[in-house]
Amino acid sequence: MRQQRPSRHTTFHEVLDVLQQEGCPICRLGVRAVSRHLDVLSYEGVNDPGGRAELRRARGFCHGHAWQFANEVRDGLGTAIIYRDVLGALLPLLRPRSMGAPRPRGRAGALERRLLPQADCPACRTLAGASRRYLDTLLSHLSDADVRRRYRSSDGLCRPHLVLALPHVRGRTGLDLLTGAFRERVGALASRSTSAETGSALVEALVGKPLGVPRTMPSPEAAQAPEHLPPADLQLEPGAGCLMCRAVQAEADRWLVGALAAAGQAPEGEPLVDLCGAHAWRLMELAPWSQTGPAWQRVTRTLLHRLTEPQDIEPAEQGVWRELGVFLGIRRPSSEGETLAARIAQRVCPACRAEAAAAAAAAKSVLASITGSEGALEAMHGVRLCRPHLALALSLAPDEAAEWRLIRSALGRWQALHAELGEYIRKQDYRFRHEPYGAEVDAPWRAVAEMAGEE
Ligand SMILES: [Zn+2]
Ligand SMILES: [Zn+2]
Ligand SMILES: [Zn+2]
Ligand SMILES: [Zn+2]
Repeated sequence: MRQQRPSRHTTFHEVLDVLQQEGCPICRLGVRAVSRHLDVLSYEGVNDPGGRAELRRARGFCHGHAWQFANEVRDGLGTAIIYRDVLGALLPLLRPRSMGAPRPRGRAGALERRLLPQADCPACRTLAGASRRYLDTLLSHLSDADVRRRYRSSDGLCRPHLVLALPHVRGRTGLDLLTGAFRERVGALASRSTSAETGSALVEALVGKPLGVPRTMPSPEAAQAPEHLPPADLQLEPGAGCLMCRAVQAEADRWLVGALAAAGQAPEGEPLVDLCGAHAWRLMELAPWSQTGPAWQRVTRTLLHRLTEPQDIEPAEQGVWRELGVFLGIRRPSSEGETLAARIAQRVCPACRAEAAAAAAAAKSVLASITGSEGALEAMHGVRLCRPHLALALSLAPDEAAEWRLIRSALGRWQALHAELGEYIRKQDYRFRHEPYGAEVDAPWRAVAEMAGEE
């Protein structure tokens, strides 16, 4: 997609300007860059062959950005074009050589991999690029007295962006400026955050704005070792959406509420429940501040302690953030800043691990229901799975028959959806606008749910 790169001068003034607004400046600028990216895509980008090829390879946007595009930009035509393309790329992978004949054994493994994104989500790449550019600009002007003055009176960087910044700060004064501002802000918010509003400001300082920080996923090995709260009997409810999405979400919610209760009873000084941004904000929706507040105040105390007390850091704990730094293209670490960053860096989110374990358990329930002679679930409703959950179920399928049932169900649904999207696109043409919509009226949004997972 054609995107204009702002000049260094413009970037600098954007940073100066955003320092006068509320919240983490890099989160705010990153979220704004993604919104602009999605708007530009909506106005001109869906006709750009390069951008469309990139979206096909990425299998559409990641879950968060797919729903952001669908709900905020609300461009039915653009959404239809993007996801008709993605389906057009996936359907040939699902089709058997001759209809009705099972696929040769061993192909499902390759299929499962090819259903997954073959490139990064374009909006995530925009977010990463913008974070890097604005953070670089801020850090390279930290010796400027005016910038320092503005930074001191701003809300300062959130923890994830502070962690990314610290290894690249040259000199004691810069480190003191950034860590001092963070300590003051979270300390003040934690001591007076008795309301939900100041509570949100504290959570934002600790995990970043929603969709403001690129999400890191735990490695498959980490996902297979959930710490506690083993998955309950997952209730798969045949209905409109993906069989697994709702069950996994319900299980992740149950885990979060359970972890919150456990955190309230743990003695002070226990390892903190350190959630990623997505799960932290989800917990804020699930529980009132009177319940979550004490847990976040506790996280704050632990972090402030880690920032001020010298202590040894296990090298393994630095890994996640170093990986994210490499993803964002930030290297050249300085040792003092890196040590400080490692002390307050987020660990692998335990809720992400619990969610991944719940997804594996749900996939196994689906497979159990379609294996054997009855196949009741399949006979009644088909095996409706979104693209990510289809890939997961295929990776766990016990035999060829189960693989084929999964594939055949998706093939039928996705072929119909592909045709409906074509019809939706046709009726957007001025020559056919007078024709009333049929069942395809909500096809773009159903396509987002099928390709990215339920909202
Ligand atoms: Zn931030
Ligand atoms: Zn994304
Ligand atoms: Zn799903
Ligand atoms: Zn998480």
